[in-house]
Parts: sequence; structure tokens; C-alpha cells
Amino acid sequence: MASPALELKAVTRRFPARDRAAPPFTAIERLSFQVGEGEFVALVGPSGCGKSTVLNLVAGLDRPSEGEVFLGAEQVTGPNSHVGFMLQKDLLLPWRSIRRNVEFGLEARGLTREERAARIARELRRCRLTEFADRYPHQLSGGQRQRAALARTLAIDPALVLLDEPFSALDAQTKILLQRSFAQTIAASGVTTLLITHDLNEAVAMSDRILVMSERPGRVVEEITVGLPDRDNPVARQSMPRALELMRHLLHALHLDDRVDA
Ligand code: ADP
Ligand code: MG
Repeated sequence: MASPALELKAVTRRFPARDRAAPPFTAIERLSFQVGEGEFVALVGPSGCGKSTVLNLVAGLDRPSEGEVFLGAEQVTGPNSHVGFMLQKDLLLPWRSIRRNVEFGLEARGLTREERAARIARELRRCRLTEFADRYPHQLSGGQRQRAALARTLAIDPALVLLDEPFSALDAQTKILLQRSFAQTIAASGVTTLLITHDLNEAVAMSDRILVMSERPGRVVEEITVGLPDRDNPVARQSMPRALELMRHLLHALHLDDRVDA
């Protein structure tokens, strides 16, 4: 059988306690999951349960204390040029045009000028930014900037895209528009995607499968197959009866339906 696109095998990450005499604290513990080729998986869980820690380990920006991370057949031992990573903040370079920002990740990859230009044109088109190519980040709206960040992420033809709360800094309506735009772009590119979110609706609307993490130390306590059609249309998905059923289920799994504290 082919290797999954991503696999975490019993990954534990401990951080030294601030007080050095205290025992280290465990952010995630024996966490295991797989993501298949072309699959869109959402990772949800309470704040502080280790979601960003998982992404940093997958991106090779951090190393597990125990356990292993595999990208395809290869173990992750450091930063990897086949992983695209996008955060809540777009991290566009303010002194570069949108075109030059998309080009940024392509530099030092041994592509010819023509190949770079073709990739940039492809991603700008896919992210509906062609007409903004020569603008600078400050001349774009928050939603457009996130689209530019996605264009830059996809331009490297990543084997895996990691999205860490990419919509959480946006207002509610921009967020809905952007979820749709991302869903279409990602579906069209076919890229394997791992989305971290605390937004349960977003997880249901956008993914093929949802992994539910426990409170810290985080582990995967449940895997849910979404089973909704039309991954490129999150708005339509959200109002389907099955989506409401999944929401009720997730609220319960995360104990959000029976708590009165915050
Ligand atoms: P989430 O993204 O789910 O909110 P994080 O992965 O950011 O959670 O963090 C999980 C826990 O690990 C938190 O308690 C956080 O403070 C801690 N943590 C994360 N990174 C570090 C670090 N580099 N050093 C010490 N503690 C960390
Ligand atoms: Mg986080």
C-alpha cells in the first residue's frame, strides 16, 4: 500500500517548565494520525491543546520528544521544502508587490525565469488576484492578502499545505467568502491539506475528515468522516442536515454543550 501523505506515530512533545526545578510539561502525548493523498483534514480542539505544536512538528520547525513524523515515506527531521505553511497573519513582505511576494518562495528553487512566471500566473489566476499583481500588500483588503498568502503557499507545488487558523483574524463575512475561495482553490489544486481551527463550523464546512483533540496533553480522541458533498462549496455544506448533526456531535465531543464556565 502507498504511504499516507502524512503520518504521525505516537508523537509526544514536552517543553521544559519555566521553573527549571519543575518537571517538563507535556503539550501533546502519543498523538497518532494519518492524512491521505489529496485529503483535507481539519484538526480541532480546545485552546492550548497543542494544535500549533502539531503543525510545527509536521513542518519540521520543531522536533518530537518521542515518536516520528513521516511525509510520504520520508521521516521529517527538519524544515522541508515540500510543505507549505500558512498562518493567521499573512507575513507578506510589505516592500514587494503581490507578484514578487508569490515569487518569493520560488527563488532558490532552480526554476528558470519562464517557469517562475508561469507558476506565478497560475496561482494569481487560481486565487483571483491577477489584476492585483502589481499592487503592494497595504493596498489590498485583509481577505485579498490572505488569498495572496495562499497563492504564495501553493506556488511551490507543495506536497502538503498546513493552515493554522488562517481566517481567525478576519471579520465574519470576509471569513465566509474566504473559506469559499480557499475551498475552491484547494479543491482545484488537489493538494493534501491539514487545517487547524477552533471553529467547528469551519471544520465541518471545509474538510473530508475531522480529528478531535483532547485538552492538554493533546491526543486525538475522535476521528469523524464528514461525508458531505461539494468540498468546494462550504456555504452550501453548512446548511445541510448532516452538517447540523456533525455540529451537535462535535459540541458534545468537546463538552461545549454542557459547560457554563468559559
Ligand atoms: P494550540 O495551538 O492548540 O492553542 P499550542 O500548540 O500553541 O496550542 O500550545 C500547546 C501548549 O504548549 C500551550 O500550553 C503552550 O503554552 C505550550 N507551548 C507551545 N510552544 C511552546 C514552547 N516553545 N515552549 C514552551 N511551551 C510551549
Ligand atoms: Mg494555535
